Amino acid sequence: MEMNPHPLVTDDAFREIFHSMSEGIVMVDEGGQIVLANPIAETIFGYSSNELTGLTMEVLVPQNHRGHHAQLRKGFNKHPEPRRMGFGRDLTALKKDGTEFPVEISLSYTRVKGKVLVMAFISDISERKKSEEALKRSEEQLIIYAAELERKVQSRTEALHKTIRELEKEVIERKRAEEETRKALEKEREFNDLKTKFVSIASHEFRTPLSTILSSIALVEQYKQRNDLDKIDKHTARVRSSVEHLTAILNDFLSLGRLEEGKVEVINEMIPMESFFHDLIEEVKPSLKKDQHVLLHLKTEVTAFTDARILRNILFNLISNASKYSEEGKNIEIHVSADSKSLSIAIEDHGIGIPEEDHKHLFERFFRAGNVSNIQGTGLGLNIVRRYIELLKGDITFESEYKKGSTFTVLIPLNA
Ligand code: ADP
Repeated sequence: MEMNPHPLVTDDAFREIFHSMSEGIVMVDEGGQIVLANPIAETIFGYSSNELTGLTMEVLVPQNHRGHHAQLRKGFNKHPEPRRMGFGRDLTALKKDGTEFPVEISLSYTRVKGKVLVMAFISDISERKKSEEALKRSEEQLIIYAAELERKVQSRTEALHKTIRELEKEVIERKRAEEETRKALEKEREFNDLKTKFVSIASHEFRTPLSTILSSIALVEQYKQRNDLDKIDKHTARVRSSVEHLTAILNDFLSLGRLEEGKVEVINEMIPMESFFHDLIEEVKPSLKKDQHVLLHLKTEVTAFTDARILRNILFNLISNASKYSEEGKNIEIHVSADSKSLSIAIEDHGIGIPEEDHKHLFERFFRAGNVSNIQGTGLGLNIVRRYIELLKGDITFESEYKKGSTFTVLIPLNA
């Protein structure tokens, strides 16, 4: 390529470097006139060979920066130093055809014959900018994607949490339903058990009193012909006692049925204890054994606010047991006392007692201790008693010494 060297450019080696550089180089004199541009510079700016030489360098600066640029150039001439141009901002340059394009420019200088010759090393960074922008765009896109993704993850997580919550609810609901079904089945099973037990107890427990009744009636017939009134009385009493026994069993089953169905209603009222106990003792007298008496130890007059019918059933049951599990002539003692909170009724007998190992099962339905096999009973009474006491919000405890006697103590809250 033919060069048109300026008189200031003399060095061949310098010219060689100048040509082979991959950056565009434009050399400018102090007045801002282009002294020399290498071929790359000409290509970058769209000028033909040598066309730039002699032009003012401001032709390469976009119109709106020109005035300012001339200013900067003068400043640089005064204190020249190698540096990058336009540091920290985007530089653009102007092509011959008027298009602006991004550039990176480093400035350097040399002194030739006392004159400052400025060298601008110019790179067209259009491609880099394009890829930077593309990168920026894809980064932005990425951020949008990430945000979108996060939003999706969040909404999915929420949906998941919701599903989990619903599932948990369903599990709880199902468990509840299962529990209910289990309870219903359990109840049904218990009820069937009860029916089976009833049939077996009825057939066993009813047989003796019924055959007693039958034989006693037959005997009464005979004694009537012989006019033996004593024997008639004896057998009439037997019939009565057998009927009472049957009634007691039926009553127990009836009570249990009503308790099971939750049909027992508590109706509290003010009850003076002294008259209550006198009535109760009168009522229980006919079923006591020979020479058995109920002795009442009532220290002070107490009035309890409770359900008289239920309390009567509880105590009737306990006194009947005390009599049943004691021999003839053994008295039953009732100790009544009260403090500010509760009424305490202890029923003490001097009977057969309860073997230690049976204590823990005593209130279980159908349970009978090991020492009572020859005494009639169903094992229902104490279970009924305990459930009645629960209805009255009371409590029952007992103490017993084998072959010596037992004391059952009922506690009834006074202001239930
Ligand atoms: P039942 O008297 O019909 O057998 P209960 O439920 O009333 O049934 O009593 C359960 C068991 O507790 C009795 O079988 C008996 O072994 C024992 N028991 C209850 N009260 C007494 C008592 N006063 N003395 C001795 N044992 C008793």
